Amino acid sequence: MSSKPNLDTTAPFEHPLYKTLEKLPGLSLGTASIDDLLAWGLTNSLWVFPMATSCCGIELMASAASRVDLDRMGTIVRATPRQADVMVVAGTITVKMAPRVLKLWEQMPEPKWCIAMGSCAISGDFYRNLYSVIPGIDTVIPVDVYVPGCPPNPEALMHGLLRLQEKVHAARRGVKVVRDPNPELMAITKPSIPRLCDAERTEELTRAQADDAMRVTEEQTSEPLEVAYAPSTPLPPVFAPDFAGLLRELGVDASSTEGPPIVPLARHYELARRLKDLGYRQYVSVVASHWPAGLGRKGKDDTEPEHYEIAYILRTVGRGSRVATWVVRAAIGEPVPTLFPLFAGADWQEREQYDLVGVRFAGHPDLRRLMMAENYVGHPLRRDFPSDAPAAPWR
Ligand code: SF4
Repeated sequence: MSSKPNLDTTAPFEHPLYKTLEKLPGLSLGTASIDDLLAWGLTNSLWVFPMATSCCGIELMASAASRVDLDRMGTIVRATPRQADVMVVAGTITVKMAPRVLKLWEQMPEPKWCIAMGSCAISGDFYRNLYSVIPGIDTVIPVDVYVPGCPPNPEALMHGLLRLQEKVHAARRGVKVVRDPNPELMAITKPSIPRLCDAERTEELTRAQADDAMRVTEEQTSEPLEVAYAPSTPLPPVFAPDFAGLLRELGVDASSTEGPPIVPLARHYELARRLKDLGYRQYVSVVASHWPAGLGRKGKDDTEPEHYEIAYILRTVGRGSRVATWVVRAAIGEPVPTLFPLFAGADWQEREQYDLVGVRFAGHPDLRRLMMAENYVGHPLRRDFPSDAPAAPWR
C-alpha cells in the first residue's frame, strides 16, 4: 500500500536533515532565513563616510570616540566613499562643496543611505538664505534620516543610526517606513530650489547638478604653483621701526583720525618692501571693502566715486611685536600691485579678496576664485550684491 503525502499545511515543517543533526551529541541548532541573516549583517555593519564640514563634525567625531563608541553597533567611520554605506552630512554645505559632495555620494556603492545631521545639513539653518550656502543637502542627494539639532549630540546621531537600522530592516520586509511629511512644515521650510522628493523637482535640475559636479572638478586641475619669493634672511636682534617716519619719507599724510593712513597706489609696493626690510615679515591680512558712489569711510559723501579700500596689516615677529597697517584706494577695475613677490602668504589672501570683493591684483601669479564656485557670477561681499542671490544649479 503506497503512503499518501502529508497535505496538512498547519503542521510544522520538519526537514529530515534537522532530525539527523538533532541526534548528534553536543550540537544545538538555530534556524533563520537567508534574508534575515543578510539584513542582520547589513544593519549591524553600517560604515559611515563622514561628510563633516563644521561644528556638527565635532559631534560626529565624538560619536566615534570612547564615551559613545559607535563601534559597539558595528558602525565605524571610513574616510573613503568606496567602502562606506552611510554618508553622514554633518555641517554647512556651501555652493562650492556641493558638487564634491555629489561626486563622493556617487562613488559610494549601493545600497547606501544618507543621514543629514544638524540644522545646517537639513535646511541651511541660519545660513539658508546666504549667497554661498545650499538650502539643505536634500536638494542634492536623497536623505533617509534627519537628525535635528544645532548641534545634535553624539547620542542623537546614535539614535539616528538606530532609526536607519529600523528603516533598512523594514525595507527588506517590504514595509514602507517613510512618514508623510507635514505639508505645512514643508511649506515653511521650502528651500530656494526643490528637494529631490518634491513633485516640482525636474530631471533637468538633477542633470545640471551632475554636469556641474564634473565640470568644476575638471576646471580644478591646474599646474602646481611655482612659488618664487625672496629667501628669508636672519632677523637682527633688535628692531626700532619708525613706521610714521617711513610714511613721512614716502610723502604719506599720516595725520588722519578716520582710520589707517591712505597710501597712494604708486607707493604701496615700496612701502611694503621697506617695512619688510625693517622687520615686518609677517603678512597678517589684506581686507578689501567696496564703497558705492556717494559713500566713503566718513559716511555719506556726494563727492565720493565708487571705489575699493584695501587695508593691509604687517607685523614683526618675536617679542615686542609691532603692527603696521595702511590702506590703498582703487577705482573699480583699477589694478592694485600684488605683494606676492614680498610675502608668499599674499597668494591666497589676495585671491580671497578678488573672489569676494572683486579687487584685481596686478602681477598675482594665480588670480582665480578661492571660496566661491568657479562659475559663480559676481563678488558677494560687494555692498551692492544681493545677499540671497541664486547660484544655479545649487541654490
Ligand atoms: S547645525 Fe549648528 S552646530 Fe551644526 S554645523 Fe550648523 S551651526 Fe554648527
